[in-house]
Amino acid sequence: VINQSEKLQKLRAKAQKLVKRGLDQHVKLAVTGLSKSGKTAFITSFIHHLTQPKSKLPFFSLQQQERFIAGKLVGQDDLSVASFDYGNALNQLQLGKWPASTNRLNTLRLNIKYKPNSGLRAHLTDVSTLTIDIFDYPGEWLLDLTMLDESFLAWNNRQFALLKEQPRAAHSETFINKLSQFDWAQEVDFDQLKQFAHEYRDLLLIFKNQCQLTQLQPGRLIMPGELEDAPITHFFPIPEIDEQTLLSAPENSYLATLKTRYEQYKKDVVKTFYSNFFGGFDRQIILVDLLGALDKGRDALVEQSDVLKSLLKHFDYGKNNFLSRLFSPKIDKILFAANKVDHLSVEHHKDLALLLNNLVLDAQNELNYQGVMVETMAMSSVKATKQVQVKESGEILNCIYGKSIESEQLLTYLPAQPPMRLLPPEQWPKNGFNFPSFYPMLNAQHQLEHVRLDHVIEYLIGDKVL
Ligand code: GDP
Repeated sequence: VINQSEKLQKLRAKAQKLVKRGLDQHVKLAVTGLSKSGKTAFITSFIHHLTQPKSKLPFFSLQQQERFIAGKLVGQDDLSVASFDYGNALNQLQLGKWPASTNRLNTLRLNIKYKPNSGLRAHLTDVSTLTIDIFDYPGEWLLDLTMLDESFLAWNNRQFALLKEQPRAAHSETFINKLSQFDWAQEVDFDQLKQFAHEYRDLLLIFKNQCQLTQLQPGRLIMPGELEDAPITHFFPIPEIDEQTLLSAPENSYLATLKTRYEQYKKDVVKTFYSNFFGGFDRQIILVDLLGALDKGRDALVEQSDVLKSLLKHFDYGKNNFLSRLFSPKIDKILFAANKVDHLSVEHHKDLALLLNNLVLDAQNELNYQGVMVETMAMSSVKATKQVQVKESGEILNCIYGKSIESEQLLTYLPAQPPMRLLPPEQWPKNGFNFPSFYPMLNAQHQLEHVRLDHVIEYLIGDKVL
């Protein structure tokens, strides 16, 4: 008899455990943005604030309602993906330095224990767990998405036309001349092909680093991950071609080889990444360095805007979206976050949010319609400045104060007001915008601070911890 009741008890405990496990939630959060947009700093701060009992996240419902119990990093699920080096990144920030940036796919798993407050979960259990798998990947790879529904011919001609436009043209003249004098129907020499690919890569890097341009394909040429100098990334646009020229090119020609490389890249690199990872993501945050683009000038901002809009198109999983035909994406919430808002005085934070919102607005309206929620915010994962007021000729100026990276000096700076929309060329300020960079700043208690990270966290996971 005793045996029977013991068995029954065990069974009951097992059943309860199963029910509880069934009620635990799981979310795959993807973090992306072009290099230097702040992914590493964001993830480090996100984890730091969710694993510290004394974090200040007043807008995060778990903290607001005193339901947060603890957050802890646990072993990652996917062992084939590199781990995000949280310990080292946090260490660097706490020493007042920025950690090294992301240049590959990284992952990490965070468990959050909390008190459920509603529904079945609250009824059956006192403590629930939300498991968050964070995936961090270079935004340069996301930009390759547009290639999936573009033929080699269309891609080639569009990219080559771009090379001839300013501000690219100022850097690409020699390369264009070389390409224009070359016979692309001749038999391919793979060393020469690689040489051209390297020259093209160097140009893309100039466009990215000096001009802050964002339409840079193929993304793995500049952000290779594990494909450093792999032949599959060795292709580039050549002077405009037509269908006939392409069809009549011999199989062993440069032209045919470029086309094959392009198709292989799409299939083996772009599609594989999307079906292996992207298709499983639930939430996506895209960090945008709008201040960097403003700093580089109007062309850079226009290109940012074009890229944001073209990205959004791919998140619209209507029936006719080619992505939905390739696999079934699950992302139901996207957040575009204009980062580094602490480089502005507090009265101008809302202007940066408005600018970002204006840049993605049209596409956003349509997306909400399709059932994917899109939000825009201005935030700062790690504060690098503090607000100070300076009196000048009787006037009070709202300035920022921090240690400048350029001069290595402590600096009080009066940042310009960013425009709330893309200004027409004639209204663009003559001297442009200038937003200096600062080292991370710890507060008096030696802790990291943020701006609106709590709003970001609430948007991304708040509905998963009810
Ligand atoms: P990643 O390449 O996307 O991983 O970007 P990082 O996280 O490495 O950030 C690139 C640079 O942007 C850093 O070295 C900092 O200079 C700056 N940065 C990143 N996040 C912040 C932030 O929250 N506030 C400020 N002020 N600067 C930031």
